[in-house]
Amino acid sequence: MNPNEIELLKTELERERAARIQAETILDEKAMELFESNQNLIRLNQNLEAQINEKVAELGKSEIRYKQLIESVQDIIYKISPDGYFTFVNPTIEQRLGYQECEIIGRHFTELVLPEYRESLVNFYYEMIASKQESTYNEFPVFHKDGHIIWIGQTVRLMLENEEINELVAVARDITDRKSTEEILKSTQIRLSTLISNMQSGILVEDESRHIILVNQFLCDTLGFNSAPESLVGIDCESALHELKNYFSEPEEFASRVNTLVAEQKLVVNEKVRTADGRILERDYIPIFIDDHYTGHLWRYNDVTENFNTQETIRKSEEKYRGIMNNMELGLLEVDNDQTIIRAYDKFCKMVGYTEAELLGKNAMELFLPKEFITIIEEQQNLRKIGGSSSYELPILKKDGEILWTLISGAPIIDEHGVTVGSIGIHYDLTERKTLEQELSLAKQIAEDARQAEKQFLANMSHEIRTPLNAIIGMAHLLFDTHPTNQQVEYLEILRSSADFLHSLISDLLDMAKIEAGKIEVNHKEFDLVGLLKTVQKVFEIKIGNRPLDVNVMIDSKIHGAYVGDDLLLNQILLNIIGNAEKFTEKGEINITVRQLKEIAKDEVLLEFQIADTGIGISPEKLELIFQKFKQINQQGHKHKGTGLGLAITKELIELQGGEIHATSVEGKGTTFIFSLPYKRSDNIIITAPAPSSKLSETKDFENGHILVVEDNLMNQKYISSLLNKWNRQFTVVSDGRQAVEQIHKHKFDIIFMDLQMPHMDGYEATIAIRSTQTPNQHIPIVALTASAMLDQKVKAMAVGMSDFLPKPFAPNQLFEMLQKYRKLSNEETDDDFEEIIPVVSNTEPQTQQTATVENPIDYERLDEMYEGDVEYQADMFDTFLTDVYPEFKDLAPLVEQQNFPELKKLAHKLKPTLGMVGLTQLEKQLVEVERRALDKPEYYDLKARVDQLLKALNQIHPILENELQRLQNLQ
Ligand code: ADP
Repeated sequence: MNPNEIELLKTELERERAARIQAETILDEKAMELFESNQNLIRLNQNLEAQINEKVAELGKSEIRYKQLIESVQDIIYKISPDGYFTFVNPTIEQRLGYQECEIIGRHFTELVLPEYRESLVNFYYEMIASKQESTYNEFPVFHKDGHIIWIGQTVRLMLENEEINELVAVARDITDRKSTEEILKSTQIRLSTLISNMQSGILVEDESRHIILVNQFLCDTLGFNSAPESLVGIDCESALHELKNYFSEPEEFASRVNTLVAEQKLVVNEKVRTADGRILERDYIPIFIDDHYTGHLWRYNDVTENFNTQETIRKSEEKYRGIMNNMELGLLEVDNDQTIIRAYDKFCKMVGYTEAELLGKNAMELFLPKEFITIIEEQQNLRKIGGSSSYELPILKKDGEILWTLISGAPIIDEHGVTVGSIGIHYDLTERKTLEQELSLAKQIAEDARQAEKQFLANMSHEIRTPLNAIIGMAHLLFDTHPTNQQVEYLEILRSSADFLHSLISDLLDMAKIEAGKIEVNHKEFDLVGLLKTVQKVFEIKIGNRPLDVNVMIDSKIHGAYVGDDLLLNQILLNIIGNAEKFTEKGEINITVRQLKEIAKDEVLLEFQIADTGIGISPEKLELIFQKFKQINQQGHKHKGTGLGLAITKELIELQGGEIHATSVEGKGTTFIFSLPYKRSDNIIITAPAPSSKLSETKDFENGHILVVEDNLMNQKYISSLLNKWNRQFTVVSDGRQAVEQIHKHKFDIIFMDLQMPHMDGYEATIAIRSTQTPNQHIPIVALTASAMLDQKVKAMAVGMSDFLPKPFAPNQLFEMLQKYRKLSNEETDDDFEEIIPVVSNTEPQTQQTATVENPIDYERLDEMYEGDVEYQADMFDTFLTDVYPEFKDLAPLVEQQNFPELKKLAHKLKPTLGMVGLTQLEKQLVEVERRALDKPEYYDLKARVDQLLKALNQIHPILENELQRLQNLQ
């Protein structure tokens, strides 16, 4: 029973008591009145009294019960007088506050209250009394007897008697536990709200009826509210939503989503919403449940615009990157440092047939790499570790077991601390290309085989073609001796020139084939360069005959003595170039200039050869083509039979020896070919004669010494025989090498003409046998006869010890020249006609005054005439020319340039005699020509070419003049 009920009961009891007293009084009065009048009523009265007594007894009992009740309740029940003094207190006070009832009764209630609460408490109850408030509730702290504080929650009721306050009844309960829990709760609440207020997220908490109970400044700032957070507390969000939604870019969608979230009451985080001003907010919805009971929810809003934009940029760039990669047919794979796959892009997955999920976490090396290629990847890994990128080809195993050939471009993946954390490989599918490559290589092999077969065929055919061709040419020559009619001579000319052309064509083709097959070897041996040049010059002079074309050779004075290199190749190069110059130059000059360009190393020099002609020239566009195969340029107005291979072969031969070639040309004026070649110098004396002369004495002892012809082809045998018969020579013909070797044991010969390809024993074997056998013929000149003009055959022939080479088909005079050449050696006779082409013996001494001829531009004869041996006078003139006159020549060029022909003429006239004074007769003639042309009808280009050429020549001659001056000074 609660105190109120007790109070009610007590009040009822009091009322009953009052009623009883009233009833007793009435009864007494009535009894007195009735006592006198009605004895019966006494008994009734007595009964009534008995009944009343019974009632009173009953009432007494209930009062005891109430008393017991008051004493036994856990709350302190007390009474105080209207002025605040204790009049009654139940025993519970001792239990609660440690005081006994007697210690309390009579004390003022404020004595127990904590001083700081006393005043407010007194005021509170004063107010209660003043306003006659029937009942109040209040909480305050009081002291326990032992001094500690007890919180009391008490109900006080006013007891009125006749409208007057009689006393105050209080029921006080110990609420200390509840108070401390409340305190904890309160401080927790403060902490929480402080935390929320200061959070760097916008927070809004609504209760279950959607009223705002908490909101922080950050939220107001984030959403752009102007109001202070406290002013928002209590707002009904449901009704405020129609206004709030306008802060967002899609208001209706926003509102409906909010309503859905609230209705579903499920946690949703990181939802993105866009504000009306274009910002991106991230939102969480957190429903709050207490004991499974929904009590509201919390919203968290954060502005993630910057982050979102960055992410978006990254995403877009990655999307773009992926798009590009996918479109580029490139497969990307990322692995860590242990080759574990950390990312595989779509295209790569398609390439290898795996899904990305199947690849992630797998070891790329183990999964894709055929074992034999592991070292490649290890090398690549090491390279990545030091930050290197590279590209390489690798076969990788697809899921279906097939091989995918890839070109991988690999690069390290470097983290923000600069540490290599893995690598990325961009794979390009090469399978198709590889297959193509294999097919191509097969096709190439087939083509190469075919080419080889073709070359072999050509080589073989050469023999087959050359042999009958040889006979055709030979027979044609013989026919000339049979007194043909004029018409027959004409036919024979055509026959001969066609056969000659065919012959050169086949030779060129074979040479080219050899060069392309890399079968040309450069043989280094000592040779006499000056002698070689003289021979070449002579050959062309003979060829040119009476045509108004001079072949001049000018050699730098630094060039003398022996050089080490391949003279055969040089000879062929010069013949090709000068041959062309001769073909394309009607009249004028072919100037061959050789000079030392530079010293490459000790005893090694780079020589420059210039062959300048005054022929028809080549147009600039055609000039670019002349070194290409089969580019025979259609020269206007010039009928030229050629293969178009000559210069291509020449270029190859020069490059093969480490040199270079180029050409310059002016149409109508002439062409200059310039090539360089490196040579070693040698101080040895060279003997280029084919056989040592010491052995020749033996040859004279043989009376029957004659010519041995070793040739297997009957027609050729017949051709040579008829020629030798015609020249009354003695000869023996055999048809293979074996028979030749037999012959050399039986007879002494003067010379052997030896075919190379023969049955039983070929020409090489026979030569080796002859050279290695002690017979009188051991050192005999052996001239190789072969239908193959291939360079290596010449080289091989020389290597086995043959002395010379006569390519078939040869003209009678070639055979004759060969005979003359070796006759001189064997008979030690002189034949003036061939003196110049007999290989010369040269030494390392510089050219003396007397030997200086074509290769030295100085005309010594003239100088002798002029100075008659007065060396001092001559030296003086040379000095004056070099110091004072030579610089004046430079003025010729600007005069031509300015087209100042009168002045040009004057200067040419003035300088002309000075050239003669130093023996430059040739240049003098050129200057005379310049003078003449400057006077007659000056032509700019013509004069320019002439002056340029003259100055160039003079420039080249300058060191020669200086040497000469030096020599003259030494002689004094
Ligand atoms: P071919 O054997 O046909 O002469 P080359 O390779 O020797 O072939 O020469 C190619 C072409 O270059 C010739 O056909 C000719 O038109 C041109 N050519 C070469 N040398 C000269 C030169 N000195 N003057 C003019 N044209 C030349």
